[in-house]
Amino acid sequence: MPGVSLPRKELFDIPEGVIYLDGNSLGVLPKGAAERAGHVIREEWGKELIRAWNTAEWMALPQKVGDRIAGLIGAPAGSVATGDTLSIKVYQALAAALQMRPDRRVILSDNRNFPTDLYMAEGLIDTIGKGHELRTPAPEDVAAAITEDVAVVMLTQIDYRSGRKYDMAEITRLVHEAGAVMIWDLAHSAGALPVDLEGCGAEFAVGCTYKYLNGGPGAPAFIYVRPDLATQIEPALSGWLGHDAPFAMELNYRPAVSTERMRVGTPSVVQLSILDTALDVWDGVDLVDLRAASLRLSERFIAEVEARCPLLKLATPRDPKIRGSQVSFSFEHGYAAMQALIESGVIGDFRSPDIMRFGFTPLYIDEEDVVAAAKIMEDVLGNELWRDPKYHVKSRVT
Ligand SMILES: *Cc1c(COP(=O)(O)O)cnc(C)c1O
Repeated sequence: MPGVSLPRKELFDIPEGVIYLDGNSLGVLPKGAAERAGHVIREEWGKELIRAWNTAEWMALPQKVGDRIAGLIGAPAGSVATGDTLSIKVYQALAAALQMRPDRRVILSDNRNFPTDLYMAEGLIDTIGKGHELRTPAPEDVAAAITEDVAVVMLTQIDYRSGRKYDMAEITRLVHEAGAVMIWDLAHSAGALPVDLEGCGAEFAVGCTYKYLNGGPGAPAFIYVRPDLATQIEPALSGWLGHDAPFAMELNYRPAVSTERMRVGTPSVVQLSILDTALDVWDGVDLVDLRAASLRLSERFIAEVEARCPLLKLATPRDPKIRGSQVSFSFEHGYAAMQALIESGVIGDFRSPDIMRFGFTPLYIDEEDVVAAAKIMEDVLGNELWRDPKYHVKSRVT
């Protein structure tokens, strides 16, 4: 059955006069999400009060939302737990993976990974205090670095700066051949392209839901555990809601007999409710169609920008097979140029040191947007609008 046609702009509240090419960082507001939040706050919390944990099924939300995310990343129902932040989920996955290989001491990642993933690994290594080592070769050297002393390989499938994409199946195969455990960070994959977790056999995957999944700022993260491992791993963060019977209030921790053992504390009900509604936009979407649309948009964007803005250098792989759903250009004055662009109605973002980043979210971006954005870029760069000193003042968040 063919999927619904894209884009589905009518399902989103996109502000007038804005071309939003930053849905890879914070997705736009899906229609119905604000109403859902209002309902949860006013009716469920306001009137039902504590009864709502049962009457409004608040306690079932983390699992319900986890199952919906599972459907988007090639994972079976019951294999995805939600909550906390991605940083926490990275820590949990790493801790569990290291326990699975007690005789090995190396965590392998890459030197382009998102900082928090690497920081969490450093912190965990210090906490464990058994002399583990974090190795971070360049992405192109990772495959050769998967040696038999490696306990766990933790990679972000799509590079947050360049959009470069790893071959999940191939890397996972090499990792398993070396007897190591695989953790995939799907922060820039979930909702951006088809992911086949079950097919690749990775032990763990983690991700966030405020990027391509449009769950809103601070939306809960997710963690996938391969079903055969769910009851074997020992959670490092042994919170009461990962307990087999939280309300038995037992003195000692006894993990849930499922992926739910990766939960920690009280779920963020308002955010989870927003996310639950936000996930409605995926109903009927075929991710193969989504990927095709994404590549059409990024190919067109690259062609338009290269023709119009000769000073920008493509910082994303030209081969569409090895890029995600974003396009980056490097430019010495990228920060100021991005501020000028944003003021002209094209919202992307900047990543240090010189990357101008543009995300393509085929659910609410079309080719007209792409061409219009490139024309505005031509104006901002060709006429050096970015030279205005006001665009050089650094904000806290770039
Ligand atoms: C966005 C992103 C994060 C953010 O982590 P939070 O804990 O949600 O702030 C982490 N890792 C990667 C790879 C990301 O892209």
